[in-house]
Amino acid sequence: MSQISPTHPIRLSDIESWDFETDIAVIGFGGAGGSAAIEAADQGASVIIFDVAAASGGSTALSSAEIYMGGGGGTRIHKATGYEDSTENLFAYLKACQGEIGDEEKIRLYAEGSLDHFNWIVSLGVPYKDSEYPGKAIVAMTDDCLLYTGNEKAWPFNQIAKPVPRGHNLEIEGDNGGPLFMDIVTKNVESRGVQIEYNARALRLIADEDGAVHGFVVRIDNQERNVRASKGVILCTGGFSMNQDMWQHYSPEVAKRAHPIGNPFDDGAGIRMGQGAGASTLHMNQSFVTIPFYPPPSHTFGILVNSQGQRFLNEDVYHARIAVSNIRQLETGEKVYLIIGEKHWKQPNMLGGEVAAAADNIEELAAEIGLPVGNLSHTFNYYNENAAKGEDPLFHKQADWMEPIEPTLAAVDITPGEHGIYVGFTLGGLETRPSGEVLTMDGDIIPGLYAAGRATCGMPRNAEGYASGMSVGDVTFFGRLAGRNAAKR
Ligand SMILES: Cc1cc2nc3c(=O)[nH]c(=O)nc-3n(C[C@H](O)[C@H](O)[C@H](O)COP(=O)(O)OP(=O)(O)OC[C@H]3O[C@@H](n4cnc5c(N)ncnc54)[C@H](O)[C@@H]3O)c2cc1C
Repeated sequence: MSQISPTHPIRLSDIESWDFETDIAVIGFGGAGGSAAIEAADQGASVIIFDVAAASGGSTALSSAEIYMGGGGGTRIHKATGYEDSTENLFAYLKACQGEIGDEEKIRLYAEGSLDHFNWIVSLGVPYKDSEYPGKAIVAMTDDCLLYTGNEKAWPFNQIAKPVPRGHNLEIEGDNGGPLFMDIVTKNVESRGVQIEYNARALRLIADEDGAVHGFVVRIDNQERNVRASKGVILCTGGFSMNQDMWQHYSPEVAKRAHPIGNPFDDGAGIRMGQGAGASTLHMNQSFVTIPFYPPPSHTFGILVNSQGQRFLNEDVYHARIAVSNIRQLETGEKVYLIIGEKHWKQPNMLGGEVAAAADNIEELAAEIGLPVGNLSHTFNYYNENAAKGEDPLFHKQADWMEPIEPTLAAVDITPGEHGIYVGFTLGGLETRPSGEVLTMDGDIIPGLYAAGRATCGMPRNAEGYASGMSVGDVTFFGRLAGRNAAKR
């Protein structure tokens, strides 16, 4: 292992001089790092923020910056558009989304603090229009604000919490929320007098013999420099989907079948620096993965079937739940198809699927694609009989999306890894307290080390329950907490 591996911290006793000295040093200037820096500065701490890139932004600036917020009666936008959302309703929804691997403490804090978080984001100058985007979309391409971005209206979530739209889209046309969001965050960081060092790659942490972190080594202008942070180092370096070896190692089911999305520095360096300092990691096998099943929303009228010719979910769920369920089908078969009638099959679309066959009846279609004819025709006929009544006894798809599927029938091959545009990013990372304090494998706090954002395992932990807005919501919310707590240390 090379001497400059992030997993090899330097001993404090080996440091002869310091090039930077500050209360708080933040590594990574995306959503988490920017939020941490603002909060730490607002607590009166001196802050320096370092980023390997030549500008701020990270993956947050590449995103749509839809942010998942609600509770407390609802945000200003909920009120203006006639929605009401209680904190308990938000909590119940988030808890159902994260399932058994959810961190109840983080979810509780997020639900209780979400309204305040909205107000904080607005106080930075982030613009939201008092309007709703009514359609089913991955991203609102208008400047409207509020939209359903997850599984809120779909079974079983609609049985657990009252459906409320919580995705908040910035007031800007097109898919331009991320750049605007990070521009505003950056101006807020600058206006607080935070020192910013770009083109500065953090290499490894500096720790004492007891494991406490005191700073790190950063490479600037091809020279290694020592940074001392008396109150804390906050790792906000993003996830690891751009590190193919690491992604394949921890999350092979997704990594083998999806293209990574994010910025090139999503290479896991911060996670590895933390590990080198004794940190534990959590749910490194969990990735967000998606396929743009919609738009157009009319594909929701089709059915998804596996190699056995059987349906396996209600097709009206969020696109990431579809993608991860498709991948699961490969455990027992080789194929996943969308079976759809010509009325609802629209082109162009973003699915990236291949029309494998078209036919006037389901038996012919099944034979053409090599699925068991009896199974597929039973699945299809049973679905159609119930769809005529607006019912889905098996998977409870909402009546709005139930119509008998009529010829001409098409089988669109969206088998993960073969067809279909599957993309993803990582959700596992350093194990932290909600305060941002990084934990060892024994559950002890590593003094002086904090982390937030996709460098950690945060509030959103799986693709099954993910909703657009949960990641930027999480990175900014827990980034703030890390900044505030480190400053108070
Ligand atoms: C196309 C796309 C659309 C998305 N849309 C949404 C959305 O609408 N809503 C949502 O909630 N989520 C969305 N996401 C996910 C979300 O954007 C990210 O998960 C989240 O923004 C990550 O934030 P972060 O602060 O943890 O990391 P980042 O924003 O990536 O910031 C990490 C920073 O650390 C820097 N860095 C890395 N290593 C080092 C190092 N060694 N030294 C110094 N600096 C380093 C990087 O340069 C980067 O600037 C989207 C993602 C993509 C790719």
